[in-house]
Amino acid sequence: MRPTGKLHLGNYMGALANWVKLQDDYECYFFIADWHALTTDYADPSRVKLNTLDVALDWLAAGLDPEKSTIFIQSHVPQHAELHLLFSMITPLGWLERVPSYKEQQENLKGKDLSTYGFLGYPLLQAADILLYQAQFVPVGQDQVAHVELTREVARRFNSMYKTEVFPEPDALLTPAPKVPGTDGRKMSKSYGNTIGLTEAPALVVKKIVEMSTNGQRIRQTDPGDPDLCPVGGLHKVFSSPDVIAATQEGCRTASLRCEFCKVDAADSVCAVTTPIHFQRMHLESRVEETWEMLREQSRKAAARAEETLLPVRTVLDLSRDLGSVKRHFFATDEDRRRARDLSQHAAWWNLPSDQRGKLLRDYWRSNLLPREAQLSQESNRVFTSLDRELEEPLITAKKKRIFVTTSRNIVNLNEWHFDIPAKSYEIWALLCWRKQDYWVDDFVIPQKYFSQAFALAKKSLKKDQKIQAKVVRDEGNRFFLGVAGSNLTAVTELRSNYGPLE
Ligand code: SF4
Repeated sequence: MRPTGKLHLGNYMGALANWVKLQDDYECYFFIADWHALTTDYADPSRVKLNTLDVALDWLAAGLDPEKSTIFIQSHVPQHAELHLLFSMITPLGWLERVPSYKEQQENLKGKDLSTYGFLGYPLLQAADILLYQAQFVPVGQDQVAHVELTREVARRFNSMYKTEVFPEPDALLTPAPKVPGTDGRKMSKSYGNTIGLTEAPALVVKKIVEMSTNGQRIRQTDPGDPDLCPVGGLHKVFSSPDVIAATQEGCRTASLRCEFCKVDAADSVCAVTTPIHFQRMHLESRVEETWEMLREQSRKAAARAEETLLPVRTVLDLSRDLGSVKRHFFATDEDRRRARDLSQHAAWWNLPSDQRGKLLRDYWRSNLLPREAQLSQESNRVFTSLDRELEEPLITAKKKRIFVTTSRNIVNLNEWHFDIPAKSYEIWALLCWRKQDYWVDDFVIPQKYFSQAFALAKKSLKKDQKIQAKVVRDEGNRFFLGVAGSNLTAVTELRSNYGPLE
């Protein structure tokens, strides 16, 4: 809800009364959309905070409960702005220009210059507001359904563009919104000056209703009238009990009920709703700091939830905040670069004996693809030892380990790589799988715990100098498994990195 100051009965019946009920059945997020207020009222921001607080006090007075729901201020959760910005990268302009309310609002608010970027983008900010919490439902009226549809389109586009499922497509939860007539018979709206405040003092509510127009009905009290054409009759329909409604209809149509009595009855029905809310608001106003502190605390809670959504979003856009695999690009020395060039320029790569190809790849892997901190020293052609030094990553531990590095023996098929491994107790296997179809190399740096059992079993049945047969296989879901001799497969996808050294 935008912070437009104190709420009136139209706001209450159109949304808030329903929200109060929803919080018992759903995990709800309600926020005061102060950034949205600026999309149309950017020229005069002087009342944003006051209006925000007014809305919050009315919400609490009417029964929104921070124990049940998260109630916060949009601008206190900067993740809304971040996601909005990221969505703005992928959203075609046409999608925003054709949102029905864009042209309508520009027409309706002629006095304001709404040819701004922020105004065009506000439905996209709404999409971010909704998707940030991975919402399943958005409680809206019919006029907002187009915005939910845009949100669904944005979610779909993001998910398909980045092959992810971060954003569920939310559904509109259409809420009953009885039309509350204003005191002049038109729709209740601040801009018409015809409102009855949700938390107004009872005496004022009665006065406003008693002075209401009957829209030309019953000018002479002896004439019958049509309560369906009179705004007081409209108020009865929203707020009175079925008995009172029936009596009013009858009395109006037969001229047996005087308008002033009809109005007092209507005022009674309205005050039955508003009086407790009025007193609750007075109580909250006397300790306004508590409400403000609650909003700040709840905004922190919302931000923590929003962050859960943004983590995978940043990852798929390669904006995550850890250095990650990028680090590998910065270890090359001049010497490494020279070797890499040698490798990529190897004209007759496929004509080389496979031993030589394997050795080139192993050297390349060691020189270019291992983090430089790993500091391996070579013991023999295929065996390396990690040096004793503090390592940043658990890739290869800081203690002295013997690492067997080997390239796949031959290509059985596109999804299976075979290796011969001496039956010695290496603590780490580094298995390099090269893919003939695109010249890429996948490496699996496998700690002993992944193969020790299978290795021990296989070793028993080996003859002297025989090697252990191991393989890496890929399934249809692009998951990788290690197989050692006849033992069961072990998942090793998480140990994989890949590179394109031959490109
Ligand atoms: S009796 Fe009530 S509904 Fe009928 S015209 Fe008078 S105020 Fe309106």
